Amino acid sequence: MLVLDWISVSVFSGVGFLALSLVPIVQLLRKTRSRQLRRAWLWLAIMVVGFIVGYLALIGLMPRNADVVLFNLICVVLVMGGVLVMSVAILALRTADDVARLVHLEREVIIDPLTGVYNRRYFSEQFEREFAFALRTDGCLSLLVIDLDHFKAVNDTHGHAIGDRVLAVVASILSESMRASDIVVRYGGEEFVILARATSPEVAARLGERVLNAVRAMKVSCPGNCTLSLTASVGVASRQPGDTRETLFNRADAALYEAKRAGRDRVIIGDVAFCDEPPLERRAEVRSLSSGVV
Ligand code: GH3
Ligand code: MG
Ligand code: MG
Repeated sequence: MLVLDWISVSVFSGVGFLALSLVPIVQLLRKTRSRQLRRAWLWLAIMVVGFIVGYLALIGLMPRNADVVLFNLICVVLVMGGVLVMSVAILALRTADDVARLVHLEREVIIDPLTGVYNRRYFSEQFEREFAFALRTDGCLSLLVIDLDHFKAVNDTHGHAIGDRVLAVVASILSESMRASDIVVRYGGEEFVILARATSPEVAARLGERVLNAVRAMKVSCPGNCTLSLTASVGVASRQPGDTRETLFNRADAALYEAKRAGRDRVIIGDVAFCDEPPLERRAEVRSLSSGVV
């Protein structure tokens, strides 16, 4: 009788631990976004419920004339089995929380808080990586440097808060109008950079045009029922043989300066064609978007 009592106590303890392990498992199910992982955790939850049923069945099924040592061993295994499952479930939940915290921190380090696009630190890392890749594969790599025109006047007329809102809207329209492979960066102030991987000068020029049109079409409402619109100037450069990151960036920056000097609201292409894309004639002249030629 004493042995059977021990079995009952062990079974109920084991069932308790197993039931408790369902709490972190359900939390993991809620937090996990991956379908595959969710399915795996769901299966584990079903298995735990199966174990609970099996444990309870043991109370009635245990032979009463079994060896005492064997009984004690079974008791220990039942309790430890429950403890093990519960510990693994708790550890999995803590690990998932830790990973989520890390991902969040990593995101904070590379994202500009005002606009939600990548910051300059991330750009430096990616530029280095993409440039090395383009060099190794002799591939294309283009840069678009974008500066909002007369942005100071927005702050002066409507205030800094509206200026901030405009920057956020510009960042979101830049992200929307670029391809998934392009990296949109707030380089500083009202200056953005787009790192266009595997992009020929021809395609980069079209991207520049798209940027101009997107900024032109942008409307930001401001207090007093007013609507703000802006233009941008864009400098474009693509990797050429003998380029370093500095020379490539400087060419895009110089093209931007040229766009400003030439009257703003335009794209300037700062270099000749290079890489595996179709040949392109030299584009050193100013390309006014209003004339529709890029
Ligand atoms: P340009 O056409 O020559 O580029 O003229 P601009 O007025 O855009 O350029 P300028 O360099 O004279 O002024 C840039 C302005 O951008 C000044 C600064 O107050 C504003 N600015 C920079 N960072 C921020 C920001 O985070 N928020 C807001 N609201 N304004 C900013
Ligand atoms: Mg500006
Ligand atoms: Mg500027």
